[in-house]
Amino acid sequence: MTKILLKVDDLRTFFHGEEVVKAVDGISFKLEEGETLGIVGESGSGKSVTSLSIMQLLARSAKIESGTISFLGTDLVRLPDPAMRKIRGKDISMIFQEPMTSLNPVFTVGSQVMEAIILHQRVSKAEAREQTIQLFDEVGIPEPHKRVHYYPHQMSGGQKQRVMIAMALSCNPKLLIADEPTTALDVTIQAQILDILRRLRDSRGMSILFITHDLGVIAEIADHVLVMYRGKVVEHGEIHQIFEAPQHPYTKGLLACRP
Ligand code: ADP
Ligand code: MG
Repeated sequence: MTKILLKVDDLRTFFHGEEVVKAVDGISFKLEEGETLGIVGESGSGKSVTSLSIMQLLARSAKIESGTISFLGTDLVRLPDPAMRKIRGKDISMIFQEPMTSLNPVFTVGSQVMEAIILHQRVSKAEAREQTIQLFDEVGIPEPHKRVHYYPHQMSGGQKQRVMIAMALSCNPKLLIADEPTTALDVTIQAQILDILRRLRDSRGMSILFITHDLGVIAEIADHVLVMYRGKVVEHGEIHQIFEAPQHPYTKGLLACRP
């Protein structure tokens, strides 16, 4: 039987500014071990807030009003900070749209991945260097021995995203949350990054929560899809179901807009 890795129940995350923004308004879903779940929806529909709620990395003005986020049976919403940091360093990793904002321009890409490895695994520098080269190789960075010494500005957008994937893998996560990881990249590079993620999922048995506004990208990678609209899940099903027999008018609209 397959194991449920992540189970979100009736999650509500609101922002409390001048007015209350119901960014995530009562969503539920589950993610099985080894599965890739796509979340699709237009800008502002609550996709990133969902992922940041899972990671417990929300802005100060945001509050989880209700619900549970169960990761292998542990409720992340009510977990003390140190325990959550441990989960972020071991079980759940995240990659974002803009690799540049996550990489420090004044350090080599290799040293940044090494630092993450040392932080998570407390291994020697030599061991971390060896692992970094292996990870670079795994994510398809050519000549990894040479490229570990490059600075971020010396790498292309696609290569920087590969570095970020290597960094995310440095803790050998069970779950990778990818929030629009291909949105800033051009189409051929997008396809390469999707290919890498698919290969990693299959070789490592990792689960992926893949967030995008692009249904075409979802079709390339996800087993199941969740369609979000204004903080709510309007449709949830297997990928072919959503494409062949969408139920909700919003999903039908999304499909109709595809080139
Ligand atoms: P997306 O689906 O594009 O990732 P988000 O999850 O980022 O959407 O945003 C969902 C809603 O929450 C939007 O209405 C957005 O304006 C609001 N929101 C997101 N981040 C903040 C923030 N830091 N402060 C106030 N409102 C926010
Ligand atoms: Mg977003």
